[in-house]
Amino acid sequence: MRLRVVVRGAVQGVGFRPFVYRLARELSLSGWVQNSAQGVFFEAEGERGELEQLLLRLSAEKPPRSSIQSLEASWLDPVGYRQFEIRESRADGPKTALVLPDIATCAECVKEIFDPANRRYRYPFTNCTHCGPRFTIIESLPYDRANTAMKAFQMCPRCQAEYDDPANRRFHAQPNACPDCGPRLELWDPTGRVLPLDDPLAAAADAIRA
Ligand SMILES: [Zn+2]
Ligand SMILES: [Zn+2]
Repeated sequence: MRLRVVVRGAVQGVGFRPFVYRLARELSLSGWVQNSAQGVFFEAEGERGELEQLLLRLSAEKPPRSSIQSLEASWLDPVGYRQFEIRESRADGPKTALVLPDIATCAECVKEIFDPANRRYRYPFTNCTHCGPRFTIIESLPYDRANTAMKAFQMCPRCQAEYDDPANRRFHAQPNACPDCGPRLELWDPTGRVLPLDDPLAAAADAIRA
């Protein structure tokens, strides 16, 4: 059997595609999942029992920040998908997916920011699938890096590896960044010249106090 599902609601920028991907792999289903301007679409193929499991667990185990407004499922003939994959987003049709607000830094990211051994030690733009900017950086839907202010920053190999790893909590985290590849803090003088400082944040705080 093949199941086609359209999920509408707050389902982008909350790890919904990676969630569907993991669930489908766990149930040995093939098919694909993608963002669209309306929400998340996916097709899954396999035994009816597993597909029904998928539908049940979709609502029961959905990512904590997501909310499903509607879920339409239709049963179709199988077409013989070989594996399950995350596909490129579709940008056609009316843009009705809900845009998430920015989400405060999660406990795991905070731990990294204060760990001197971590590569994101004191990096102010640390984020993951569970936290970080959404509304502030979105320029268009669907919510993909290319449609955000992060498109100017090419991920370094280590960030890209996190983004591509289904077991990583930064799997498909659109604003993923680190000190090597992401945005940086700068303090400018009144003429717009960047001041050569090791710690622009502390210098800005000092300047405000002065
Ligand atoms: Zn986080
Ligand atoms: Zn990086």
